[in-house]
Amino acid sequence: MSDKRLAAASEENLFRIFTIPEAPDSTLARIEQEVSQNLDGFLRDNIVAVEKPLSEIEQDFQDSVVPEHPQFVSALADELLDKLVAQSVHTSSPSFIGHMTSALPYFLLPLSKLMVGLNQNLVKIETSKAFTPLERQVIGMLHRIAYGGTRTEAHNDQYYKSVMHSADTSLGAFCSGGTVANISALWIARNTLLGPNGSFKGVSKEGLFRAMSHYGYSRLVVLVSERGHYSLGKAADVLGLGRQDIVSVKTDENNKICIESLEQRITELKAENAGILSLVGVAGTTETGNIDPLDKMADIAEREGIHFHVDAAWGGATMMSNNQRPLLKGIERADSITVDAHKQMYVPMGAGMVLFKDAHSTDVIEHHAEYILRKGSKDLGSHTLEGSRPGMSMLVYACLKVMGRSGYEMLIDRSIDTAKYFADLINAEDDFELVSEPELCLLTYRYVPKVVKDYMETCDAEEKHIINELLNDLTRFIQKKQRESGRSFVSRTRLTPKAHDGQTITVFRCVLANPLTTKDILKDILAEQKEIAKESWRSLPAILKKIASL
Ligand SMILES: *Cc1c(COP(=O)(O)O)cnc(C)c1O
Repeated sequence: MSDKRLAAASEENLFRIFTIPEAPDSTLARIEQEVSQNLDGFLRDNIVAVEKPLSEIEQDFQDSVVPEHPQFVSALADELLDKLVAQSVHTSSPSFIGHMTSALPYFLLPLSKLMVGLNQNLVKIETSKAFTPLERQVIGMLHRIAYGGTRTEAHNDQYYKSVMHSADTSLGAFCSGGTVANISALWIARNTLLGPNGSFKGVSKEGLFRAMSHYGYSRLVVLVSERGHYSLGKAADVLGLGRQDIVSVKTDENNKICIESLEQRITELKAENAGILSLVGVAGTTETGNIDPLDKMADIAEREGIHFHVDAAWGGATMMSNNQRPLLKGIERADSITVDAHKQMYVPMGAGMVLFKDAHSTDVIEHHAEYILRKGSKDLGSHTLEGSRPGMSMLVYACLKVMGRSGYEMLIDRSIDTAKYFADLINAEDDFELVSEPELCLLTYRYVPKVVKDYMETCDAEEKHIINELLNDLTRFIQKKQRESGRSFVSRTRLTPKAHDGQTITVFRCVLANPLTTKDILKDILAEQKEIAKESWRSLPAILKKIASL
């Protein structure tokens, strides 16, 4: 610690950090200027591309003692650049196409600073004032995008005017992300299914134990395809269900829920007297980006009287494109919908939403306290899981205004076109295999040398199994090497495609949502993977010799 310049702990100095901005020539002021003028340049210059092992990075974060003495801000800024920024991930790089964390429009940087500076707390009006109506408007706009198509525009105008700002209703809830949104949706479903009935005061008052004996259910379950997001498991756990009560339904060869299996599951569950808390449709699975047949699921939910939730955390933004909207047909029949603005709406992390078809559905989770969240108040905290919350809705508002629906439509359409282009590129290559076609802007593929591909056409199932295992090692190897080199990044996941007779294979996974990802970048990514594969003939001789000798 050579330049650990220490400041004196004096009241005067502490007072300064609350009142006096950093000098224009200070490290922090320089960071601020570079970040606002050229974020990409700043990230490129300050993030070290070549990967350092995590165990080495951990060495910089060993001290468990709170520093006794104050440090100068400039010294801290230098330290952060060196230890933290340098070892961060350039998530907005156009060649990093393996994750759902998006690139951000520039105007969000100064606006984020303004948001932090205002430091409004959305839990109640008295600490948020205009932010509360703004958030209700943002929720209203997205609600209208999701559900508005079922009414005439005149009726919509009237409807949103009457409910958007009403103290008795909520069209949705803003939260930190898709996980909390899914928990909120299932919380409402649970309290609705196990609501007050006769002398029973409802699950929210009496708890799950009594609710189960009152209603006589043997268990409570949530139905979702085997591609459902793991946050549903967490939701089940916190809501008093078990993780095994997330009943996963088989998917077809396109990773969509199999309707016959769903029907069969429902019949079985009814026979064992299970309470079905919710049927969850996935609109954009995390691994393959496919959308469940929402309309058919809505039919079933309606017939059975089951709460229908759509987890559109990733794919929900697709509703903004009139061209792609038909892919989500049936979403407007969902009782609740999860949408993450921090995925395909290009907003920074911490912007999740759950929308409710019925503006009165939150009545079952409403919470009042005397000193705060009084009855009849418009405090948002009375029907949200989270308490104190930042004004993130301002950033969603800004994006909706600056880009408009048609702007989002262009971005969404473009992403899907880019994914289709990449799929064509992969299909045209002898040494690659497209594993899942892009329905939205997500696809999976793997590297399979042509000789191996040809051989797999002819060999028996057992040999195929062995080769797939070897290819899994190869895919893992290429993905790791590519990440470590720091030029580009694709992620990897494991899938069980029907084309491989139920064998689980490892694949590359790409999310093509960055508008700055060009065709050349995609060509380079494949070229780099081929290079790494070639190099692996030396690094992984055993595996590849085996394949080569087949
Ligand atoms: C990302 C995602 C979630 C979880 O959202 P977080 O914002 O990470 O909490 C839930 N469901 C799906 C389908 C997702 O893609």
